[in-house]
Amino acid sequence: MWDELLTPLDEVAEHMHVWAVAEVEDESVASISYQLIGAARDLADLLGVKAEAVLMGKDVEGLAQELIWRGADTVYLLEEDALSQYRTETYAQVLANLADDRKPEILLFGATDKGEDLAPRLAQQLGTGLLPDCTKLEVDQAERILLGTRPTYDGGLMETNACPEKRPQIATVRPGAVEPYPPSESRRGDLEKISVESVEEVTAKVLEVVKEVPEPALRHAKIVVAGGRGVGSADGFKLLQKLADELGAAVGASRGAFDEGWVGREYWVGGAGGITIGPDLYIACGISGAIQHFLGIKDSKFIVAINKDPRAPIFEFADVGIVGDLHELVPALVDELRKTRS
Ligand SMILES: Cc1cc2nc3c(=O)[nH]c(=O)nc-3n(C[C@H](O)[C@H](O)[C@H](O)COP(=O)(O)OP(=O)(O)OC[C@H]3O[C@@H](n4cnc5c(N)ncnc54)[C@H](O)[C@@H]3O)c2cc1C
Repeated sequence: MWDELLTPLDEVAEHMHVWAVAEVEDESVASISYQLIGAARDLADLLGVKAEAVLMGKDVEGLAQELIWRGADTVYLLEEDALSQYRTETYAQVLANLADDRKPEILLFGATDKGEDLAPRLAQQLGTGLLPDCTKLEVDQAERILLGTRPTYDGGLMETNACPEKRPQIATVRPGAVEPYPPSESRRGDLEKISVESVEEVTAKVLEVVKEVPEPALRHAKIVVAGGRGVGSADGFKLLQKLADELGAAVGASRGAFDEGWVGREYWVGGAGGITIGPDLYIACGISGAIQHFLGIKDSKFIVAINKDPRAPIFEFADVGIVGDLHELVPALVDELRKTRS
């Protein structure tokens, strides 16, 4: 099927090995990196090549060992002052030089803020394509083509992308899509220190790093009030916040609401990328009850669902279902709670 698009054989042959580009967060390897090296390990075994990790930063050598324990045959270590903080241009330049030199067959990045920033830039610099946001990776072993699948049309369809024309093949992988291998301290691998050529002066300077504070209350909250696409807007979540305040609850959201941009990722509840929770009471407002959402809340002790569609799947697993418009029901609930208190 790929015949007309195939890369010339000599170009395919000179590109070998599967790379996972590690991310460093707060002086530790971010968990996505272990997932990536696990995915790289699986692909490398199928292709009969090595799984290799790229570790960039300053004073990060101590982080290399666990990448080997998690599946890397080689860790390329690139340490340099200019890499102490992530900057797109610097990282892309250094990585492009290394990839030009070593010619990996496949490069995996996390579908994280950094990975989604860096991977397209690198793809452009190397003149290759990008398989974005993959939730599944496979490989056509005969043609050595990476196949990256991702949900599209709001998860209604899955699309599979490939980059048969160019090497390396680059993909970003959604956090949680791949299970990391547990660390095996008996695994052996090589650490190769790569000297970083002088990095060109870049225009961007990091003045301050402001961390997004995750919602710590949600994961362990006894009561969660969550909203979905039925909430209708970011403002609609203020309504849910009022109910949450009355109940001493945390606010959560479905992936649908997150995708609409109404809430941050730290609110996203679900078993496939979101936070998994098990509160005493879960109140779902305008959430249809997709399987991925259910998997994130199935340990809840009592589930109340408000949905205007009596056939919404959430009613199949809710302990109490209320059919109606949340914009009427939630304010009514808030009023009732206030009355009982006064
Ligand atoms: C790989 C993958 C991973 C995923 N992971 C997750 C995950 O972890 N968590 C997650 O939540 N989803 C996840 N999803 C998405 C999931 O499949 C659904 O698309 C998503 O949960 C739908 O969000 P929603 O229920 O808010 O929106 P919709 O499905 O659009 O439902 C909105 C609901 O609101 C109701 N409604 C509308 N207006 C009102 C109103 N005024 N009052 C009351 N009810 C109203 C509607 O009847 C409808 O039932 C994933 C999908 C894929 C493909």
